Amino acid sequence: MNVRSRLDAHVDRYAARTRGMTASEIRALFAVATRPEVISLAGGMPYLSALPMDAVSSVVERLVMERGAVALQYGSAQGDQKLREQICEVMALEGIQADADDVIVTVGSQQALDLVTRIFIDPGDVILAEAPSYVGALSTFASYQAQVVHVEMDDDGLVPDRLRDTIKSLKSAGRRPKFLYTIPNFHNPAGVSLSLERRREVAEICREHDLLILEDNPYGLLGFDEEPMDALYAHAPDRVIYLGTFSKTFAPGFRVGWAVAPHGVREKMVLAAEAAVLCPPVFSQLAVSAYLETEPWKDQIKKYQELYRERRDAMLSALEDMMPPSVTWTKPTGGFYVWLTLPNGLDSKAMLPRAVTARVAYVPGTAFFADGSGSTALRLSYCYPTPERIREGIRRLAGVLEDELEL
Ligand code: PMP
Repeated sequence: MNVRSRLDAHVDRYAARTRGMTASEIRALFAVATRPEVISLAGGMPYLSALPMDAVSSVVERLVMERGAVALQYGSAQGDQKLREQICEVMALEGIQADADDVIVTVGSQQALDLVTRIFIDPGDVILAEAPSYVGALSTFASYQAQVVHVEMDDDGLVPDRLRDTIKSLKSAGRRPKFLYTIPNFHNPAGVSLSLERRREVAEICREHDLLILEDNPYGLLGFDEEPMDALYAHAPDRVIYLGTFSKTFAPGFRVGWAVAPHGVREKMVLAAEAAVLCPPVFSQLAVSAYLETEPWKDQIKKYQELYRERRDAMLSALEDMMPPSVTWTKPTGGFYVWLTLPNGLDSKAMLPRAVTARVAYVPGTAFFADGSGSTALRLSYCYPTPERIREGIRRLAGVLEDELEL
């Protein structure tokens, strides 16, 4: 018996696709980062203490007492009709005109990522994704054995010229990407947004090259300054699969997200969803629907915006005050994340155990690349700790970096 088979007796039986399934860096971190003495700037958990729990509780209680026989029953694979209509109202805030028939409700947007990958990707197919990209999407893509090709970003998001170059060089190698995966608003992990100009340009490039776009937008309504920008979907509804979620604007525990897709794609997604989960959880869907109907959900989003703005300010001013001059970072105007770049020679993954010893945690940049790059960067999130804890966390991190730079 070799070492691998002693650890897992079934190791020779797994399907080839499981080779891409490895524990994410975030999972490995969870155990240490949640110790109370560690200030975690690692996780992307919404600050749920800002939710009116009594109101949520009465929504849920009424649901059981008044509509229990429906709410606790199986439901449609595409999702509850009324909730899909309400989702269209939410999306209208970002310039999306869609019909409830175009919407499929999913188990968080994470399931929508899975469904889209499942229906489009054969092993070895190419997916274009920003550099860096969302770790959960990269895990999904890996589990279907996709080849992810990263496209550069800057402070205005994905760089259109780089997108054009990448598509062309793939084409000359006889490769055609299946889709472009992009997070245009308050990017996880980069903390930047795609400018309006670039939205038009990216839509145009994808039209020119007949490329599908997978637009992932969990944070679009959590901007701090202006009205939300129009979604990419609004620029190219015929070639965008749009993903939304109630995880950040309401609560992730309900696991209610959605996708809007061109008719044929949506049909395939519904079939794939039926095979995976029969139907999205009816109880959660009706709870979210009742919440949207009876509670001031737009005010709640404002409350979240104000809370996260204050925390973003705390993080940016702490970084400004305390970071060594060779360190740079992005300046988010919404969402949860700041992307920090270390001076050459420093390795954020190698440094993490020393940071945890100094009682601060972050996510190393390598988690956000499919190709192993990203070691000189790291992701900080400001959504969960209080402003005081954020400042103290940055103080600890700056101390670790100063020690590293002196070595
Ligand atoms: N996409 C992005 C960019 C995210 O940041 C997240 C959550 N961290 C998700 C998708 C998944 O969200 P959910 O499944 O909770 O809707």
